[in-house]
Amino acid sequence: MFADRAKIFIKSGKGGDGHVSFRREKYVPDGGPDGGDGGHGGSIIFEVDEALNTLTDYRHKRKFVAQSGEEGGKKNCHGKNGEDLILRVPAGTVIKDSATDKVIADMSGDNKRIVLLKGGRGGKGNQHYATPTMQAPKYAQPGQPAKELEVKLELKVIADVGLVGFPNVGKSTFLSRVTNAKPKIANYHFTTLSPNLGVVDMPDSKGFVIADIPGLIEGASEGIGLGHEFLRHIERTKVMIHIVDGASVEGRDPIADIKAIRKELAAYNPELLNKPQVIAANKMDAVYGDTNEIIEALRSEFEPDGLKIFPISAVSGQGVRELLFHVSSLLDELPQETVIFDPEVDLTEDSIEITEDGFTVIYDNEEDEYVVEGPRIERMLGYTNIDSEKGFLFFQNFLKDQGILEQLESLGIEEGDTVRLYGLSFEYYK
Ligand code: GDP
Ligand code: MG
Repeated sequence: MFADRAKIFIKSGKGGDGHVSFRREKYVPDGGPDGGDGGHGGSIIFEVDEALNTLTDYRHKRKFVAQSGEEGGKKNCHGKNGEDLILRVPAGTVIKDSATDKVIADMSGDNKRIVLLKGGRGGKGNQHYATPTMQAPKYAQPGQPAKELEVKLELKVIADVGLVGFPNVGKSTFLSRVTNAKPKIANYHFTTLSPNLGVVDMPDSKGFVIADIPGLIEGASEGIGLGHEFLRHIERTKVMIHIVDGASVEGRDPIADIKAIRKELAAYNPELLNKPQVIAANKMDAVYGDTNEIIEALRSEFEPDGLKIFPISAVSGQGVRELLFHVSSLLDELPQETVIFDPEVDLTEDSIEITEDGFTVIYDNEEDEYVVEGPRIERMLGYTNIDSEKGFLFFQNFLKDQGILEQLESLGIEEGDTVRLYGLSFEYYK
């Protein structure tokens, strides 16, 4: 369940481009390539900060962009790397892809740091592309592009205990009595949609988190059903407290109410009924007549199923202590575990990877030529003697096998057009 949320835009830094340059020295007419590599772009990194417990920082500033890498320079100068941008979040923050609502990472348990968007790799300078026969490569690798994403941050607080019950039975009153939470208490039949959470401090054992989970919509018993949000929240709690109006102030029948809710729970997920549950018969201060009557009726109905009944008054505090001690002991018997959501999206997969030795095929408007270049082409030209018949055949097969001819055709090349590969120009014929 989420107590706090924010939506932000994040973008990693672009990698700096590799540089094309050649050494210039006195008395050395044709220096070798000395273009330096581009710097890496900064990454977007999320880190857990134990001192934080809200996401308020992300509700003011919403755009986070890491620095780009600088371009490589001449004389083998490496471009400066862009700085990473570290976003600090409280433990329990779930990061989701805003477009799909899928979980990218859950910053809980051991997940204290994640590189969410890796900065683009810097491109290699032309010095890397020299071969024995291609000593003056005019190609340098471009830096990898930046990545951007809109993400939702949701602070997950897993409540140990969930309060369930129809509207107006006193859930909010109970929560405000036993915890520091300040929920809205009112005599009306609708609820806010985010759960109210509160921490119960226990004198001799560790406290626990209670949630008043809204979403139990009016008319649930008439077949409209419990909201799925509500049921998902309940799924993550360990113990359920059914709260009923023991005084039937509004004419509700507590036994029918509990049955209706348990039926809905079972329909959603039968295992929900295996969770420890207790019944709090609330508003006992307002019971007109024999208090024991309703308690006995509840006991004979539900105790055979293992549900204990506690008569309480959320207003006066009567019976509340006993209920809390019982719930606390139920929790102590359960295994301690943090619920961690599995990632549903893998951003580490580098879909926009630029292969180390790729090539590009473009149409050069100004020259009215098709241009094929890139390290793979340079390397091929380096080891191929195109002037020999065998070499030329190899060259033609290479263009075909690498899909270069196909790319040229998709760009609209026609017979007789010129194709340029570095120093080499030829006319295209099928
Ligand atoms: P919720 O809808 O279940 O959260 O119920 P609320 O906590 O908002 O309470 C609904 C109404 O019942 C309010 O008017 C409360 O003052 C009243 N109420 C809650 N608990 C008690 C109780 O123990 N005794 C009495 N007499 N009234 C209560
Ligand atoms: Mg309420």
